[in-house]
Amino acid sequence: MKKIRICCKENEKCRQVKKKLVQLLKKAGFEITNNNPDIVIAIGGDGTFIKSLKENNYAVKPYYIGVNLGTLGFLQEVESEDLEQLVTGLKNNKFHVENIFIQETIIMLSNNRKIKFKSINEIVVRDVKLKVLKVNIMIEDFRLEQFIGDGILVSTPTGSTAYNMSLGGSIIHPSISALQITPLAPLNNKAYRTLSNSVIVPNEMIIKIVPLNGNSIMLLVDGDYNIFHDVKYIQTSLCADKIKLLKYNDSNYWQKVESKFLG
Ligand code: NAP
Ligand code: MN
Repeated sequence: MKKIRICCKENEKCRQVKKKLVQLLKKAGFEITNNNPDIVIAIGGDGTFIKSLKENNYAVKPYYIGVNLGTLGFLQEVESEDLEQLVTGLKNNKFHVENIFIQETIIMLSNNRKIKFKSINEIVVRDVKLKVLKVNIMIEDFRLEQFIGDGILVSTPTGSTAYNMSLGGSIIHPSISALQITPLAPLNNKAYRTLSNSVIVPNEMIIKIVPLNGNSIMLLVDGDYNIFHDVKYIQTSLCADKIKLLKYNDSNYWQKVESKFLG
C-alpha cells in the first residue's frame, strides 16, 4: 500500500492542503502517482470525491478517502486540520473499509446500441428541452405508472442524502441494497395521476424508464448531463462491484446525518 493518487479541487486553499499532505505522505514513505494507485485521496467536497472516482473510471481496486474542504463534505471523512492523523492512519492501517454501491445505467437506443454509465449518487431523466417529461416506469416489466412531470431521479443509498433529499426523498442507510425512484415536480390534476412520493425498489428488481414523448432525453449522471436521441429505454441497477471507502473506526452514519443536516 504505497502508491497514492491525489485529486484536488481547483482553488488556492485546496492546493495548499495538497502541498502539505504531499510532504507528509512522502515523509511517511508513500509514493505520489496517478499510475495504478493503491489509495485515492480527494481534497475538496463531495463534488471532488465524485470527480476522483470518475478520474479512476470507478476502479474498485484502490481505497478511496476524502479530505473535506467542501461546502458540505458528507462523503469526506477527514477534516483538513487532521492531515497528520490521516497519514499515520494510512501508514498503520487504522481505517476500516465501508463499501459503497456503484450504480450502472444502460441507455438502450432504437438501433439496439447500448451506452453505459456509472454513478454513485444518482441518475436524473429529464425532457431534452426541459419541457414536461412523459415516461413509463417499469419494475420487472410491470408498468407501475405513466409518469408526467419535470423528471425522474433514481438514487443509490449514497445519493439519498444528495439531490434525492432536496426532492423530499428518504435517507437510506448505505448498507441497504436498493434504489429509490423519486419524482421531480410530478403532475397531478384531472388529466394526470402520478405518484408524488418516492418508491424504494430492491436491487434484484429491474427498473426501466421508457420515454413516451419523442425519444430524446437529457440524462444527468452524478450531476453531469448527456443528451440522447432515439432512446428505447433506460435501465438502472446497482453493480456487484463496490467502491471501498476508508472510514475512521468510530465513524457513525447517523451521527454524520445529524451533524451535516441538523447540527
Ligand atoms: P455540486 O455543487 O457538486 O453538489 C451540490 C451539493 O450536493 C453540494 O453541497 C455537495 O457537497 C452535495 N452532495 C453531493 N453528493 C452528496 C451526497 N452523496 N450526500 C450529501 N450531499 C452531497 O453539484 P453538481 O456538480 O451539479 O452535482 C453533484 C451532485 O450534487 C449530484 O450528484 C446531485 O446529487 C447533487 N445535486 C443536488 C441538487 C439539489 O439538491 N437541488 C441539485 C443538483 C445536484 P459538497 O459541497 O461537499 O461538494
Ligand atoms: Mn460539482
